[in-house]
Amino acid sequence: MAAQEKAADQRVSQFDYALLPELSGLLGIDMLQYVKKIEEEQQKEREKMQKGFNSQMRSEARRLKTFVTYEAYSAWTPQEMAAAGFYFTGIKSGVQCFCCSLILFGTSLQRLPMEDHKKFRPDCEFLLGKDVGNIAKYDIRVKNPENKLRRNDKARYQEEKARLKSYKKWPFYAQGTAPRELSAAGFVFTAEAEEIHLDGVTQVGPKKKI
Ligand SMILES: [Zn+2]
Repeated sequence: MAAQEKAADQRVSQFDYALLPELSGLLGIDMLQYVKKIEEEQQKEREKMQKGFNSQMRSEARRLKTFVTYEAYSAWTPQEMAAAGFYFTGIKSGVQCFCCSLILFGTSLQRLPMEDHKKFRPDCEFLLGKDVGNIAKYDIRVKNPENKLRRNDKARYQEEKARLKSYKKWPFYAQGTAPRELSAAGFVFTAEAEEIHLDGVTQVGPKKKI
């Protein structure tokens, strides 16, 4: 982590300097000077911001919520930025990675936030897919169905137990077929009619079967 904190102080330039001479000609201003000035201001802001791992922003859903107040004209969507590890810092248009604390101010039409993240922090542990505690949106979505499944298993077990109870009066002459197997297969023994039921379909009871 110490190496990452140090890296956070390094300069980050998102501008494509190769395009600047052409832009200067088109706009009639010295773009190189303009960009340098902007980057200088951004660097000053960057140095003021907190560095290091931000545990509070491990959740992608929480990162996404920070973009509610994000007003910058951006080529990147909040969804793309949150998925790439970024949250909105609230300072100018600065977005920051919760893991390596990289701060970006600009967005690119040609590149996605994930690409710029990789370009400036190829060693970010979140990007490398290491377990840094990121809670992806997908993890939140599957949480409920998982609980539901567990409940279903429990209900299924209770049902089977109840079915097995119905075999209390299982005739001695039907011993060739074990009640446990029948109940596990979904059958209920109705002693009165000497029938067993499966999913509403009545089947012939043991007396006639044997
Ligand atoms: Zn990062």
